[in-house]
Formats: sequence, C-alpha cells, structure tokens
Amino acid sequence: LMFNIFMRNVLIQDAQNKLKSDTKLIAMQVNNEYAKYKEMVNQLSHNSQVKEFVMSIDSVDSVLEHPRYEEIKQLLKDTNESDEDASLSWIGINSINAIIYDTGFADLSDDYIYYERPWYIEMIKGEQEIAVSPPYFEAVDQNHVVTLVASINDQDMNIGNIGLDIYINDMRNFVSEISLGEKGEALLITTEGTYIVNPNSWIQSKSIFDNNDPLYVLKDSVLTGEPDLKEMVLNKEKVYFYYTKLDIENWIIGGYIPIGEVHKNVNMVNMMSGVMVLSAFMIIIVFSILLRTVSDNKILIKLNQELIEKEKKLIDNNEEIKNSHDVVWHQKEEIEASYHQLAATEEELRVQYEEIEAYSSQLEKLSEQFEMAMNFTNSAIWEYDIKTKKLTIPHGFKANRSNNLEVMDSLRIDDMIYSEDRTTFWSSVESYINGETNELHVQIRVLNKDDGLDWWLIHGKFLEHEKHTIRGMLVDITKIKEQEDYIRTLAYIDPLTELPNRRRFIEKLEFSVSKNREGAVILLDLDNFKDINDTLGHVYGDLLLKEVSRRLSLFTSEEIFISRFGGDEFLIIIDYISDKEIISEIIEDIITYLKQPIRIDGNDNEIGVSLGITLYPQDSTDVNQLIMNADVAMYHVKNTGKNRYVYYNDQMKSEILEKSRIEQKIDEALKEGFKLVYQPQIDPKTGQVVSGEALIRFKDESIFPNEFIPIAETSHRIIDIGRWVMKESIQQLHRWKTKGLTIKPIAINFSPKQLMDHGFVEYYKDLLEQYDLEAKYIEFEITESIFLTHKEETIDFLNQIRNIGSKIALDDFGTGYSSLSYLTFLPVDSVKLDKSLCDRFVEVKDLHVMKSLISLVQGLNLLVVAEGIETYKQVELLMQLECDLIQGYYYSKPVDHAKYESYLDKIFD
Ligand code: C2E
Ligand code: CA
Ligand code: CA
Repeated sequence: LMFNIFMRNVLIQDAQNKLKSDTKLIAMQVNNEYAKYKEMVNQLSHNSQVKEFVMSIDSVDSVLEHPRYEEIKQLLKDTNESDEDASLSWIGINSINAIIYDTGFADLSDDYIYYERPWYIEMIKGEQEIAVSPPYFEAVDQNHVVTLVASINDQDMNIGNIGLDIYINDMRNFVSEISLGEKGEALLITTEGTYIVNPNSWIQSKSIFDNNDPLYVLKDSVLTGEPDLKEMVLNKEKVYFYYTKLDIENWIIGGYIPIGEVHKNVNMVNMMSGVMVLSAFMIIIVFSILLRTVSDNKILIKLNQELIEKEKKLIDNNEEIKNSHDVVWHQKEEIEASYHQLAATEEELRVQYEEIEAYSSQLEKLSEQFEMAMNFTNSAIWEYDIKTKKLTIPHGFKANRSNNLEVMDSLRIDDMIYSEDRTTFWSSVESYINGETNELHVQIRVLNKDDGLDWWLIHGKFLEHEKHTIRGMLVDITKIKEQEDYIRTLAYIDPLTELPNRRRFIEKLEFSVSKNREGAVILLDLDNFKDINDTLGHVYGDLLLKEVSRRLSLFTSEEIFISRFGGDEFLIIIDYISDKEIISEIIEDIITYLKQPIRIDGNDNEIGVSLGITLYPQDSTDVNQLIMNADVAMYHVKNTGKNRYVYYNDQMKSEILEKSRIEQKIDEALKEGFKLVYQPQIDPKTGQVVSGEALIRFKDESIFPNEFIPIAETSHRIIDIGRWVMKESIQQLHRWKTKGLTIKPIAINFSPKQLMDHGFVEYYKDLLEQYDLEAKYIEFEITESIFLTHKEETIDFLNQIRNIGSKIALDDFGTGYSSLSYLTFLPVDSVKLDKSLCDRFVEVKDLHVMKSLISLVQGLNLLVVAEGIETYKQVELLMQLECDLIQGYYYSKPVDHAKYESYLDKIFD
C-alpha cells in the first residue's frame, strides 16, 4: 500500500514537473523570439545616426532635405527585410508629429498626435526600456501584430520613438500546436486578461476577466505574474494548470494537462504493484522460515545436523519455491490477463453507462423542451372518454397553468364553450366517433376567466389500445386569431405612411357609389417629388411622404377619407358632399396646410401639390373611371401649371389624346426631320439684315411650335429637337458658305429644359468644327424662366457659350419677370422686347415708357431688338427711339431657306 501511495505521488509529482518544465520550455522559445525583436529595436533606438537625425528635424521640409534621409529609410528597410515576421519598422519624430517609414514619411494630422497614443503613454509610465502593445489587428490586411516601441532620448528628454510591428501569427501557431502530455495544451494570455492563444477555443470568453471564464479564479495571481501550479476545472475537466510570466511585458504562458490522464498512469502502477506485493509475500515466507531455523540455538549440534538436513530440505524447498515462483509468475500473468479483461469490461460498462447517461439527459431535455413547447404554444394534452363522456384537461388551462388535471362532465364542458360554438364542437366529436372524419379537428371559442373569449384549436385521435379514449392537443390560438385580424387590416394599410391603401380606397368608393351617395374623388400629387427623391435620396423622400401623410390624415372625418395611391399620389374621397364650393374650400385648406414648410434634416421643404377632382355620380359611377378622371384632371393641372386643382371635364380627355397625338408626330419628325424657317432681324436705319432667327416647323406646318414645343418640353423630346435645330442651322450656314454667300448670324431658341442636355456644349463645339464654322454665326435665344431654377448652373452654361464666341439674347422680355436688375449681371448681349410689349407701348401716347426702357437697356451696353412689328408706324416710332433691330411681319414672315437666302444682300425699306 505504502508503495502504491508512494508510486502514485511520484507519478503525480512527475506529471506536474513535466507540465512545469514543458511550459517553461515553450516560454523560453517565445522569449527567444521576443529577445530577437527586442534587440532589433534596441539597435535602432541606440543608433547614433538615428538619434542625430531625429534631433536635427524641426520641420517637414527638414526631413525631406536631410542628407541622411535616404540612409535612414534604407536602415528601416533593412530592418524590415531582416526578419520574416518583422513587418514594419518606423521612427517617430515628436517635434513635428511625423512618422518615417522605409517608403517615406507620414506627416500626421494635428488630431492624431502619435506620442499621445495609449501605448506610448504606457511606455513612458513604465520603467520598461521597450514597451509592447497589446496584440491588435493591423488596419491594412488584418494581420495579428504587436508593436514594440523604444524611445529615443536626448539627455533624458524623449524626442522620438522607434517602433517595430511584429506579426505574431507564427508565435501563436507555435504555441497552439504544442500538446502537453496526451491531451494537454498551452495558452497565451496578456495580463489585461485577453487570450492570444486559446487552444481549441474551449474558453468561450475572450478575457479571463470575464467572470464566466474558467481562468477567472487566476485573475489576481496571474496579474502578479508569479509562476504557480493550480488544480482547476477547464472545459468540464479537472486539470493541472501551470503558468509563468514571459519576458514580454504583460504576457503570460500557461499549460495544462487533464488530471484524468495522470491518474490513468497511476492505475497502471496500481496493477503492477499488486503483482509485486504478491511476489514480496512469497519472499517474506521464505525469510521467516529461515529466521525461525536460525533462532533455535538450543541444540547447536542438532542444529547442525538438522541444518544439514534442512539444507537438503531447503534445497527442496528452494525447488518448491522455485516451482511456486513459477506458479506465482503464472498467476501473475493470469491476473494481468484478467485485469486487462476486467479493464475491457469496465471500459465497456463505462461506455454503456455514458450512453445511458446521454439518453437520460436527452430524455430530460426532451421533456423539458416538451414542457416549454407546451408553455410557449399555449397548448395542453386533453383526453375524452366516450363511455363516461368526460373530458380531462389541465386545470385552469392557460390562465394559471398547473399540472393538476380537471375532469369535466358534458355539462361543465358546455359551460366552458361559447354558446355559438357548442354545436360545432359536439358535432365534430360525433362525426369523428362515427368515422366520418379520420381526425377530430375543430376550432371553438371558450369563455375565459375575464369573461372574454379565447380561441382553442382542438385535435385528437383514438388511442391505439383504448378504443374509447380520444386523446389530443388543444392549442390556445387566440393570439393567432388576433394576428390574422391584424394581417387582414394590414392588407388595407400602406406600410410606409400607415394611411389606408388603394385597395381600401376602392372598397370604400365602391360602397359609397353603390349607396347612391354624392361626392368627389380627388387625386393629389406632390410637385417635383421625383427631383427630391433623386437629389436627396429615398430616405429623405420617405420622411417627406410620411409627414405629408400625417398632415393629410388630420383631415380624416366622417366625410373625408384619405388614402395613399402609391408613390407620391394620394386619393381622397369627399363623401356626401356635392357642392363644388364646399369641396373647393376643403381642398384649399389641404393645399394651405401642406404648404407649410416641412423640416427634415434642418432643411425646410415647401410642398406644392396638384389635385384633380371628379364628382360622382355626375362624372361616372365606375370606380376605375373615377380614378382615371381624377388622374386626367390632375394631369391637366400639371400641364397648364395655372391652377393647383381643377375639376374634371370631358374636354380634358380629348386634350390628353391630342397631346399624345402631337408627341407621336414629334417622334416621327425626329426620325424624318423637321424644317427650319428663318425670320430676318433688320437694322431699320440701313434696311439690312443683321441676323436671322431660326424657327422650327413640322414639314407639313400642321401644328405650330407654340403648341408642340411646350409638349416636347415635358419630355426628353425637347433635347432631341434642340440638337436637331442646332445641327440644321449649322449645316445650313455651311451650305450657304460653300455657295460663296456672305452669311449672317442665325439665332436659335434654347429651351430651359435643354440645360438637362449635359453633352450639349460638346455637341455644339463638335458641329462647329465639323462644318468649319465660327461660333459668332450662331446666337442663342433664352428666356428669363431659365434663371428660375438652377441659376448658377445656367450662368455657368451661358458663360461657356459666350467663351466659345456665341452671343446670347434675352427673348420675350416683357412677358415674364421683366426684371431690369437681372440684366445688370446676366451674361446676355441683347434683349428682345416681346410683341405684346411693343403692341402696347409703341403708340404715340405711351412712347415714353418704351423710350426709357430702350435707353436703360442700351445703358447696360445691350442691343435692343423689337419683336412682332407689323406696321410701318411702329417701325417709324422705334427708329425715333433708336431701337437697334426690328423683327416682324412688317419686314418678313419667317421664310424657308431658299427665300431667306435672297435676304442676305437685300436692302429692306
Ligand atoms: P419666339 O421665340 O418668340 O419666336 C417668335 C415668334 O413670333 C415666331 O412664332 C414668329 O413667327 C412670330 N412672329 C414674328 N413676327 C411676328 C409678327 O410681326 N406678328 C406676329 N403675330 N407674330 C410674329 P413661331 O415660329 O410660331 O414660334 C413660336 C414660339 O415657338 C417661339 O417664340 C419660340 O418660343 C418657340 N420656338 C420656335 N422655334 C423653336 C425652336 O427651334 N426651338 C425652341 N426651343 N423653341 C422654338
Ligand atoms: Ca425667339
Ligand atoms: Ca420672342
């Protein structure tokens, strides 16, 4: 026994020692690695060249101009290349907060003062010559690194730093691949508690400071860094754990072996020692016989004789012992064999036991899960005996769950079931019993303790062996039923705005119409919402829609129903009201309220809306027709831009048809070609054509530009038209030029919508080059409306045009804003006074207005062109006012190129 205990202790001691020495050995390896890097950093920080270099830097320029700069970079490069894991060395210079690398240097921004970084401060604080950062993942390629830092000092003054980033992957792999004993492993921790190597990740937490961590118990002793051996539980296994400090500041290496592994060896020794005890026993017997013989000294002679005799016997005995020794030996082998057998059986038993244990814990888990499932799903098992007509369910099911069962007779059952559902229940039971259904399956309402109703889903079947018992589940589906209701309402709600959706609108309108009520359907559309969405993003747009919806929903009442149609369109029903005046009042209230600025992200948004209104039953009693009518009316608002809302009339429909007919015609013309006519602009003093305006026509002249240009402006068509006119004008000038004619500038009309044609300027320049034309032969006519939106962009565009060499005229002056102050800064060369202005003021009595206007414009160094001049009287007066140019039917209507050609050298009178 003693031997046994002794051996046991020896073995355990031995295992522990081995754990210690192995762990230390690993530590030594890591330390060696570290020593190497430490030396590299040391060398650099004590390098006199480096020091001198750092000392002499006082500005960014002084780095670049320093004669040693290249050498220093090379030094860093050599360092980086000297070792595979040394990833990056650098020199920090405090005086200018910059870092030098082998590839160059980084002048750090003022808000990142590198020597105020935590690791740096840590280093200054500690006595350590070299500080090591905690392991981190470097930003660029996510390698796991640590940084070693040493300071460069000038007479105890810290002037810079040497840094070296080391990849620690290899180190980690080295440690994590080591095995101690059969199953033991090594791990690496920092004294901050973080795991650097956590062998099989059996430790779930990242830090031993996490109080769920198995090493949490070591927290304090690990921190002091004194090596120690502990017995503890790791990953549900008892282990010997040994740890020791590394040279790397704050790093600790630990190792463990499972105690079970040690004991297995001890058991082996136990068996061996059993065998040895047996042999020892035999030896003791021999000795005692010997001793007894020697102690009998009364008859020495006899003894002698006997001795001889006994000697003989002894020899025999010896033989016997030898034999019995053989027997023992044999027995020993037998014992050993049976031991192995036993061990095997034990192993078998153990496996079986473990299996049983696993099963039973699985069973336990399952029943737990079952319990949980029952709880979660609000369900229970029930039983119904068709002989006794008794129902058994958990007492007070759901309300106060308990395991007690309650047995109910049919009266009590009826009491429980909601009166309307009683027959449903009993007839389902009946038809199952009669074999009409192959499962009992029924949903009923039962009275709950708050006098409310719960929904139960009941299903069940006869038991295999007890044909008179039905058993099954009952599930409380009240929540599910509520959810169903909710989903049903959701089907009618627009998720973004929470307003009723289009489906709900249709049902509601159908209902109103079917009841022969009178009312209005209104389609409301936000103006320019697409722009907001495109420029500020969908999130912003959604916020805007939500706020608009919120405001709209405030109008909801018995008569007013608000819903979202989709996108930025809303459908409104005003029910029971047919008086247009009242409807208009409501609509104006809505417009005014929506107009109040909506604040999002600090921006105020003013929302304009366009509304189309249609009345039922007058306009239609068909829901879809009504929606279409409202749409047509709304469309009309958008197109004319005159009113915010308009009532539908049948004429609108034909307008829309007309519009699409014109669009079709434009599309054809874009393929087949338009034609250009030209109207001369004449200097009344000389009668000469100074320039001409190109005006577009369909080839058949069926529709005039006043009608089709605004339509083209509602789509990309205007861009195509603009390019076509530009090209045709240039080509025409080119043709005249090649004919040897003296060409004069042609003015073309430029629609504000053409600003969206970003390639326009390039296109223009290319054409000029292609047809070898000077830009001064092309002039642009713009209107003031172009400055309404995108003012900066417009001015930018106009300046580009002027820089190329083309002139710009401000067209239709007197129709729009007619702002004279605009003229002081807009990049234009001339102003065209609109026909309406001329008609009104070019009269003898109103001449002073025209006079001051013309002199004002001329005072700004701009030419004045009078448009739409039809009579000689007008020409005469305009000449008095010294108007520069005149354009109008008086001289000529717009004419085709052949006719215009003849104007080029004509003198008009
Ligand atoms: P606008 O630029 O103001 O062009 C002048 C319009 O007045 C022309 O009508 C012209 O025929 C007409 N007009 C000229 N003199 C007289 C006159 O003495 N009496 C009367 N009653 N009218 C006169 P047009 O060609 O039908 O063009 C109408 C408008 O269509 C133009 O007004 C212009 O805004 C637009 N437009 C015409 N061609 C183009 C084009 O190529 N591109 C673009 N974007 N717009 C064009
Ligand atoms: Ca014009
Ligand atoms: Ca004009």
